[in-house]
Amino acid sequence: MLTEMKDFRVLITGASRGIGFSIAQDLAEAGCRIAGLATTKDNLAEVESAVLAADGEFLPLEGDVGNPETADAAVAEVLDAWGGVDGLIANAGITRDNLLLRMGADDFDKVVQVNLGGAFNFAKACTKPMMKQRRGKMIFMGSVVAQTGNAGQANYCAAKAGLHGLARSIALELGGRGVTANVVAPGFIETDMTAALTEEGKELMVAKTALGRPGTAAEVASTVRFLLSPSADYITGQVVTVDGGLSLA
Ligand code: NAP
Repeated sequence: MLTEMKDFRVLITGASRGIGFSIAQDLAEAGCRIAGLATTKDNLAEVESAVLAADGEFLPLEGDVGNPETADAAVAEVLDAWGGVDGLIANAGITRDNLLLRMGADDFDKVVQVNLGGAFNFAKACTKPMMKQRRGKMIFMGSVVAQTGNAGQANYCAAKAGLHGLARSIALELGGRGVTANVVAPGFIETDMTAALTEEGKELMVAKTALGRPGTAAEVASTVRFLLSPSADYITGQVVTVDGGLSLA
């Protein structure tokens, strides 16, 4: 266990599966206490077991991240349980892909509401406690497609690109209070989200990736752990890409 992160109180949205699950497991192994949120607590049983197996503490939380009341209630529960919050990992995300010509306004709104609105809601709810502590780290799960664009994902790319502005502005507003804000931008990572792609789509992503393979959720989690650790105390307002070279294509 890394003593430098022992007992860090970390709130992770989208902790039930994929990248969020790996982050919860990895940070629990590093000694952090984990508050994990999914749409329903029923989805959190597996991640709770993984955190407990790592001798960690787990607080299950539920709700739609796109709803500001979910964020306020979740952060209040963390404060009640542990008296503060040291890290926010705003990771929950969805896709609703379609070409612009066929994309409905509801598909645009929903993707922006969850991916960008969810991050805003949780960042806002964490702001007061982190300012009071004069310490805190916010990490937003972006995507490499925010930089490159992606045909069929205008909604998702717009939402993820919005996270860059959100993180930079928070970095400027809260830096004086010891609070940092950064984006982690994964490339093609094997999770439920990308399992929905066609075989042809997956092969195309791998072909464009310099390292010639998809990334794992654990490889994203280790970057999050670094950004959350004291080793990254002087990094703020940045986008850290974890894409095996996909964005070089
Ligand atoms: P995933 O396997 O589909 O998991 C999504 C997670 O988000 C689940 O825990 C899900 O909870 C939660 N979630 C979804 N909508 C929610 C909502 N409205 N309120 C609360 N929780 C919600 O996705 P993933 O691949 O791990 O992706 C995690 C993050 O990384 C996302 O932001 C995604 O955009 C980003 N990302 C992924 C990739 C990739 O290649 N996989 C690449 C770049 C960026 P439930 O289990 O309750 O549904």
